[in-house]
Amino acid sequence: MKERFFKLNKWNILVENDKAKEAAIYNLYNGDIIELDEDWAKVIHYLQTGELISKVDHPKTPEIIQTLSDKSIGKCYDKLIYEEKTRKGMLLPLKGIQSPPPVINRFFIQLPTNCNLNCSFCNSLNSIPCLTCSNEKSEKNVEHFDYRRFLPRILDLKPINLILHGGNPFLLGNKLNNLVNQCKYLSESTQIWVVTHWKHLFSKIKENKRNLTENLNCYIVIPASNFNEDEDNSKKFCYTLDYVKNRLQSFVPVIVLDSDNNIERLREEIMKFNPQGLYVSHIYRKSNFREFNNSHFVRVNVETFWHNFYHHPCLYGTLALTSNGKILPCPHMKKEILADVMNDSEPFERIFGDREIDKYWNLNLGKIEKCKECIFRYGCFECRAVELKLTNDLLGKFLCSKVGH
Ligand code: SF4
Ligand code: SF4
Ligand code: SF4
Repeated sequence: MKERFFKLNKWNILVENDKAKEAAIYNLYNGDIIELDEDWAKVIHYLQTGELISKVDHPKTPEIIQTLSDKSIGKCYDKLIYEEKTRKGMLLPLKGIQSPPPVINRFFIQLPTNCNLNCSFCNSLNSIPCLTCSNEKSEKNVEHFDYRRFLPRILDLKPINLILHGGNPFLLGNKLNNLVNQCKYLSESTQIWVVTHWKHLFSKIKENKRNLTENLNCYIVIPASNFNEDEDNSKKFCYTLDYVKNRLQSFVPVIVLDSDNNIERLREEIMKFNPQGLYVSHIYRKSNFREFNNSHFVRVNVETFWHNFYHHPCLYGTLALTSNGKILPCPHMKKEILADVMNDSEPFERIFGDREIDKYWNLNLGKIEKCKECIFRYGCFECRAVELKLTNDLLGKFLCSKVGH
């Protein structure tokens, strides 16, 4: 009988953890991550190293080869081949030559606005802190140095999304519209978002519909506790979503689990208004930390795999300006100050010219001690700011059931 070899095809990548005897196949064609049991991991490991099929001494070898061939995940060859895995873009990040211009996916700007709603979860640790509002007062704020002077510098970077957040952003009155319109004027392609509680939005719409610019997109914060059999709230809420759906560019609801309410009905109600997405934010408490997972698996295509291979899944492409003029790698990493626009005349020069941002943008999960061997690290989305707050360590990891709390 002719000696043959078996190899996974170029869309399928084997990721192994030798110590734990674990492995997974990332199918970059359909986005699946296939976790392998110990037998499969062992057999596929030997086949991938170029061993002849006949030399892989395991009773399951024929079955494994047949299954993978049937699913077009790999195939048999008469001679040993090397198949370069599918990539997009550059083979390796550029080093030693001029870097390409940075691509900013999200630029957060904190507005100097307070809020009087007194939500019980305000300023508490939750699973998507940057998409929920919080009420922080600062003595100095960016109005001291004038937003308008600094905005062109930010918009010069052509961020894909610019996200305004703070307490109640509508307390800025007409200044908010001016700010949004100015941003749109400076970079037409940038999507402008505001993070706001649905009640603030409702009040704004009731006050004067025309006061809300149509250039806006909204992340709408929706505490589950607001709908404890409260019919009046439900009506106001539907009125708000109906307005937003018809008048604004787009909206994404963020349900905050601040009560034990079943949110299924709420979710169904929201979906009738055709939102662009929907997030559920969990509140972290010492009593619930075992259920509070900070690792979310996403479908992994070619872009996601190689993005996560080199970069942090969330921090890459993110920057934030606080209401007292500090530039941060993320709006909730308050102590990681990259520049202070009050004192620094060329903040972006330092951040990008000296590549200070790489410490955060290139913080792929392979650099996190507890994640570095994990077979899911190329398909895992985590919030680094939450881990930093809990461990006081930029490379710390506390919230993941895979590594144990
Ligand atoms: S609406 Fe937002 S900022 Fe205001 S109290 Fe509630 S969580 Fe805090
Ligand atoms: S160990 Fe790290 S990479 Fe693996 S699932 Fe947990 S958070 Fe994600
Ligand atoms: S790490 Fe990402 S998800 Fe977490 S707060 Fe920062 S930007 Fe948001």
